[in-house]
Amino acid sequence: MGLEEKLPSGVLLTSVEKLVNWTRKSSLWPATFGLACCAIEMMASGAGRYDLARFGMEVFRASPRQADLMIVAGRVSQKMAPVLRQIYDQMPEPRWVLAMGVCASSGGMFNNYAIVQGVDHIVPVDMYLPGCPPRPEMLTDAILKLHHKIQHEPLGAKRAAQQAAARADGTAPDLHVEMPSSVRADKDARRAYEQAAAAGRTGQFAIEQRGGNAVVLPGAGAPR
Ligand code: SF4
Repeated sequence: MGLEEKLPSGVLLTSVEKLVNWTRKSSLWPATFGLACCAIEMMASGAGRYDLARFGMEVFRASPRQADLMIVAGRVSQKMAPVLRQIYDQMPEPRWVLAMGVCASSGGMFNNYAIVQGVDHIVPVDMYLPGCPPRPEMLTDAILKLHHKIQHEPLGAKRAAQQAAARADGTAPDLHVEMPSSVRADKDARRAYEQAAAAGRTGQFAIEQRGGNAVVLPGAGAPR
Protein backbone atom coordinates (compact mmCIF):
# COMPACT_ATOMS: atom_id res chain seq x y z
CA MET A 1 0.00 0.00 0.00
CA GLY A 2 1.48 3.28 -1.06
CA LEU A 3 1.28 6.57 0.81
CA GLU A 4 -0.83 8.10 -1.95
CA GLU A 5 -3.60 5.59 -1.23
CA LYS A 6 -3.92 7.03 2.27
CA LEU A 7 -4.33 10.60 1.00
CA PRO A 8 -7.77 11.73 -0.15
CA SER A 9 -6.58 13.60 -3.26
CA GLY A 10 -3.34 11.78 -3.97
CA VAL A 11 -1.40 15.03 -3.61
CA LEU A 12 1.23 15.45 -0.90
CA LEU A 13 2.05 19.02 0.09
CA THR A 14 4.91 20.10 2.35
CA SER A 15 7.45 22.88 2.62
CA VAL A 16 10.93 22.72 1.12
CA GLU A 17 12.30 23.31 4.60
CA LYS A 18 10.54 20.28 6.03
CA LEU A 19 11.52 18.12 3.06
CA VAL A 20 15.19 19.13 3.15
CA ASN A 21 15.41 18.65 6.91
CA TRP A 22 13.66 15.28 6.63
CA THR A 23 16.18 14.08 4.06
CA ARG A 24 19.06 15.37 6.18
CA LYS A 25 17.93 13.70 9.37
CA SER A 26 17.04 10.46 7.61
CA SER A 27 20.50 9.91 6.14
CA LEU A 28 22.99 10.97 8.80
CA TRP A 29 26.29 9.25 8.17
CA PRO A 30 28.64 9.18 11.16
CA ALA A 31 32.41 9.49 10.79
CA THR A 32 34.36 6.54 12.17
CA PHE A 33 35.86 8.24 15.17
CA GLY A 34 36.16 6.23 18.39
CA LEU A 35 38.58 7.58 20.97
CA ALA A 36 38.17 5.40 24.07
CA CYS A 37 35.86 3.00 25.90
CA CYS A 38 32.69 4.82 24.77
CA ALA A 39 33.53 3.71 21.23
CA ILE A 40 32.72 0.10 22.17
CA GLU A 41 29.17 1.15 23.02
CA MET A 42 29.01 3.14 19.78
CA MET A 43 30.07 0.05 17.82
CA ALA A 44 27.43 -2.01 19.63
CA SER A 45 24.84 0.59 18.58
CA GLY A 46 25.68 -0.06 14.95
CA ALA A 47 25.55 -3.84 15.28
CA GLY A 48 22.55 -6.16 14.94
CA ARG A 49 21.07 -5.94 18.43
CA TYR A 50 20.54 -2.16 18.43
CA ASP A 51 20.67 -1.67 14.67
CA LEU A 52 21.32 1.97 13.79
CA ALA A 53 20.45 0.94 10.23
CA ARG A 54 16.83 1.54 11.21
CA PHE A 55 17.61 5.26 11.01
CA GLY A 56 19.53 5.18 7.73
CA MET A 57 22.88 5.56 9.47
CA GLU A 58 24.49 2.16 9.70
CA VAL A 59 27.33 3.23 7.43
CA PHE A 60 30.17 4.60 9.57
CA ARG A 61 32.23 6.39 6.95
CA ALA A 62 35.98 5.98 6.87
CA SER A 63 36.35 9.36 5.15
CA PRO A 64 35.20 12.63 6.78
CA ARG A 65 34.33 13.86 3.27
CA GLN A 66 31.40 11.41 3.27
CA ALA A 67 30.27 12.00 6.84
CA ASP A 68 27.99 14.63 8.34
CA LEU A 69 27.87 13.48 11.96
CA MET A 70 30.86 13.32 14.29
CA ILE A 71 30.17 11.16 17.36
CA VAL A 72 33.01 12.03 19.75
CA ALA A 73 33.12 8.72 21.61
CA GLY A 74 35.64 8.99 24.41
CA ARG A 75 38.07 11.37 26.07
CA VAL A 76 39.91 13.84 23.86
CA SER A 77 43.60 14.21 24.69
CA GLN A 78 45.40 17.51 24.04
CA LYS A 79 47.44 15.71 21.41
CA MET A 80 44.33 14.45 19.63
CA ALA A 81 42.52 17.83 19.72
CA PRO A 82 44.10 19.30 16.54
CA VAL A 83 43.43 16.01 14.73
CA LEU A 84 39.79 16.07 15.80
CA ARG A 85 39.50 19.65 14.58
CA GLN A 86 41.09 18.74 11.26
CA ILE A 87 38.64 15.88 10.72
CA TYR A 88 35.76 18.21 11.60
CA ASP A 89 37.05 20.80 9.11
CA GLN A 90 37.18 18.14 6.40
CA MET A 91 33.52 17.19 6.87
CA PRO A 92 31.19 18.96 4.42
CA GLU A 93 28.41 21.29 5.60
CA PRO A 94 25.89 20.79 7.04
CA ARG A 95 27.49 18.78 9.84
CA TRP A 96 26.68 17.98 13.42
CA VAL A 97 28.63 16.90 16.50
CA LEU A 98 27.46 14.59 19.28
CA ALA A 99 29.60 14.49 22.45
CA MET A 100 29.18 10.92 23.74
CA GLY A 101 29.85 10.32 27.43
CA VAL A 102 31.05 12.52 30.27
CA CYS A 103 34.64 12.55 29.03
CA ALA A 104 33.79 14.07 25.66
CA SER A 105 31.21 16.39 27.21
CA SER A 106 33.25 17.79 30.09
CA GLY A 107 36.48 15.85 30.61
CA GLY A 108 34.66 13.59 33.07
CA MET A 109 36.82 12.16 35.83
CA PHE A 110 39.99 13.04 33.90
CA ASN A 111 40.42 16.49 35.42
CA ASN A 112 44.05 16.85 34.38
CA TYR A 113 46.35 18.61 31.94
CA ALA A 114 46.33 15.81 29.37
CA ILE A 115 42.60 15.76 28.59
CA VAL A 116 40.52 18.49 26.95
CA GLN A 117 37.82 19.47 29.46
CA GLY A 118 34.97 19.16 27.00
CA VAL A 119 35.11 18.81 23.25
CA ASP A 120 33.17 22.09 22.94
CA HIS A 121 36.56 23.73 23.39
CA ILE A 122 37.48 22.39 19.95
CA VAL A 123 34.30 22.09 17.87
CA PRO A 124 30.69 23.29 18.29
CA VAL A 125 28.60 20.55 19.89
CA ASP A 126 24.96 19.97 18.91
CA MET A 127 24.09 17.26 21.41
CA TYR A 128 25.59 16.20 24.74
CA LEU A 129 25.09 12.66 26.00
CA PRO A 130 25.90 11.97 29.69
CA GLY A 131 26.94 8.64 31.17
CA CYS A 132 30.04 6.54 31.63
CA PRO A 133 29.67 4.80 29.33
CA PRO A 134 26.28 5.66 27.87
CA ARG A 135 24.53 2.48 26.81
CA PRO A 136 23.57 1.98 23.15
CA GLU A 137 19.95 2.81 24.03
CA MET A 138 21.14 6.18 25.35
CA LEU A 139 23.13 6.86 22.18
CA THR A 140 20.08 5.96 20.11
CA ASP A 141 18.00 8.36 22.21
CA ALA A 142 20.56 11.16 21.71
CA ILE A 143 20.57 10.51 17.97
CA LEU A 144 16.77 10.68 17.86
CA LYS A 145 16.88 13.98 19.76
CA LEU A 146 19.43 15.24 17.24
CA HIS A 147 17.07 14.14 14.46
CA HIS A 148 14.36 16.23 16.09
CA LYS A 149 16.69 19.23 16.23
CA ILE A 150 17.68 18.84 12.58
CA GLN A 151 14.03 18.48 11.52
CA HIS A 152 13.19 21.84 13.08
CA GLU A 153 16.22 23.84 11.92
CA PRO A 154 15.30 26.88 9.83
CA LEU A 155 16.95 27.20 6.44
CA GLY A 156 18.10 30.02 4.18
CA ALA A 157 16.64 33.47 4.88
CA LYS A 158 14.78 32.26 7.97
CA ARG A 159 18.01 30.91 9.42
CA ALA A 160 19.84 34.18 8.67
CA ALA A 161 17.02 36.15 10.32
CA GLN A 162 17.10 33.89 13.37
CA GLN A 163 20.87 34.28 13.73
CA ALA A 164 20.64 38.07 13.28
CA ALA A 165 17.99 38.23 16.00
CA ALA A 166 20.13 36.11 18.29
CA ARG A 167 23.13 38.35 17.67
CA ALA A 168 21.03 41.44 18.37
CA ASP A 169 20.02 40.21 21.82
CA GLY A 170 23.44 38.69 22.49
CA THR A 171 22.34 35.11 22.89
CA ALA A 172 24.36 33.61 20.05
CA PRO A 173 27.30 35.66 18.78
CA ASP A 174 28.32 34.97 15.22
CA LEU A 175 31.37 32.89 16.06
CA HIS A 176 32.73 29.90 14.23
CA VAL A 177 32.87 28.07 17.54
CA GLU A 178 30.60 29.07 20.40
CA MET A 179 32.40 30.32 23.49
CA PRO A 180 32.98 27.40 25.89
CA SER A 181 31.42 27.90 29.32
CA SER A 182 34.78 27.74 31.14
CA VAL A 183 36.06 30.61 28.95
CA ARG A 184 32.91 32.63 29.55
CA ALA A 185 33.43 32.37 33.30
CA ASP A 186 37.01 33.73 33.20
CA LYS A 187 37.34 37.48 32.50
CA ASP A 188 40.84 37.32 30.94
CA ALA A 189 40.08 34.24 28.88
CA ARG A 190 36.86 35.86 27.72
CA ARG A 191 38.73 39.00 26.56
CA ALA A 192 41.29 36.89 24.69
CA TYR A 193 38.48 34.91 23.12
CA GLU A 194 36.74 38.08 21.96
CA GLN A 195 39.96 39.27 20.36
CA ALA A 196 40.26 35.93 18.58
CA ALA A 197 36.64 36.27 17.47
CA ALA A 198 37.32 39.74 16.04
CA ALA A 199 40.20 38.21 14.06
CA GLY A 200 37.91 35.40 12.86
CA ARG A 201 39.96 32.60 14.38
CA THR A 202 37.90 31.19 17.20
CA GLY A 203 38.17 27.63 15.97
CA GLN A 204 41.73 27.17 17.10
CA PHE A 205 41.54 29.51 20.08
CA ALA A 206 41.04 26.91 22.75
CA ILE A 207 43.72 24.62 21.35
CA GLU A 208 46.31 27.41 21.27
CA GLN A 209 45.38 28.59 24.76
CA ARG A 210 46.18 25.12 25.99
CA GLY A 211 49.51 24.98 24.23
CA GLY A 212 48.33 22.80 21.37
CA ASN A 213 49.23 23.23 17.73
CA ALA A 214 47.09 25.12 15.30
CA VAL A 215 45.88 23.11 12.33
CA VAL A 216 46.67 24.58 8.92
CA LEU A 217 45.17 22.71 6.01
CA PRO A 218 46.90 23.04 2.64
CA GLY A 219 45.39 26.00 0.80
CA ALA A 220 43.06 26.82 3.70
CA GLY A 221 44.79 30.07 4.67
CA ALA A 222 45.06 31.09 8.31
CA PRO A 223 43.49 28.73 10.86
CA ARG A 224 40.07 29.80 12.11
S1 SF4 B 1 32.78 8.39 29.62
FE1 SF4 B 1 33.50 6.52 30.64
S2 SF4 B 1 33.32 4.94 29.04
FE2 SF4 B 1 33.28 6.95 28.00
S3 SF4 B 1 35.43 7.39 27.45
FE3 SF4 B 1 35.03 8.31 29.45
S4 SF4 B 1 35.73 6.74 30.92
FE4 SF4 B 1 35.44 5.71 28.95
